[in-house]
Amino acid sequence: MRVKVDRDLCIGAASCIALLPEVFELDEAGKAVIKKALGEPSSDWADYKDLPVEAQMILAAAKSCPTNAIIIEDDEGKQIYP
Ligand code: SF4
Repeated sequence: MRVKVDRDLCIGAASCIALLPEVFELDEAGKAVIKKALGEPSSDWADYKDLPVEAQMILAAAKSCPTNAIIIEDDEGKQIYP
C-alpha cells in the first residue's frame, strides 16, 4: 500500500493534519506533504511501511480530505481511494 497527495487538488484545508499530524504537514506552499521515516517530507508516493500509523488511519485521513487529494493504491498499483 502507498499514499500520495495530489498537489493540484490539495487546498491546504488541513483536515488530514488535524487527524494525522504524525503523517501529514503543510509545506511552505500550503500543500500537504507526507512525513516519511527517511528523507524529506514530500507529496509524492510514500510506502505504508515508512509511515508510523495504521492503514485505517491513513484511509480515514484520505476520507477527511474535502477535495479527495489523498490518493491510496494497493501493492498492485490499483487505486483504492478515492
Ligand atoms: S485534507 Fe486534503 S486539501 Fe486539506 S491539506 Fe490535507 S490533502 Fe490538502
